Amino acid sequence: MTDSKARVIFCDFDGTITVNDNIVAIIRHFNPEGWKAIVDDIVAQRKTIREGVGELFRLLPTSMQKEVIEYAIGNAVIREGFAELLRFCQYESIDFYVTSGGIDFFVYPLLERFGIPRDHIYCNASDFSGERIEITWPHPCDEHCANDCGMCKTTIMRRFPADRYERILIGDSVTDFEGAKQADVVFARSHLIDKCKELGVPYIPYESFYDVIDALEERTAASI
Ligand SMILES: [Mg+2]
Ligand SMILES: [Zn+2]
Repeated sequence: MTDSKARVIFCDFDGTITVNDNIVAIIRHFNPEGWKAIVDDIVAQRKTIREGVGELFRLLPTSMQKEVIEYAIGNAVIREGFAELLRFCQYESIDFYVTSGGIDFFVYPLLERFGIPRDHIYCNASDFSGERIEITWPHPCDEHCANDCGMCKTTIMRRFPADRYERILIGDSVTDFEGAKQADVVFARSHLIDKCKELGVPYIPYESFYDVIDALEERTAASI
């Protein structure tokens, strides 16, 4: 029975919690030579996310640390209804995890005011000690994933077995798709919708987090 399982949300960050993709915004803004070819390679899957994102940030010198961080934080806009969704989850005892392919120096500061515990936020890390910005990867793929994700969302999800948890995914892009295939409930927008349609994965569309709250309320009501 669904209602005997603990509910857990895995929520993407870039393009989901924030309106836009922060990595692309940072690179586009500082416009270092060579970034477009790397993005093309990522999109065409000639480079994995980990390789490509690592190369993109290596284009930026660490002397720009302050500007890069200030730009990333100042540029991001949080999607409507996020604080309300967190409150809803608390009230409904839904465990809420951020599973982000973003980087610590903008993910943590942008989430700070929402009071999500640190151990519920998964993202990549950064090292500004050398000459160039180096991304470090504290949450790599386990033996079941060969995608070289960088921050592996499905590895995190596998720690919540389907027989004990109802796993709810919220995302916006192709990088959420492997998780969407595993999840019991998928909230999708943008490219994730196209991918779910293409491969027949059921999803609930959303634009704001109020849509997510409404749909979760309906599901709760239907299961009583
Ligand atoms: Mg995203
Ligand atoms: Zn992976």
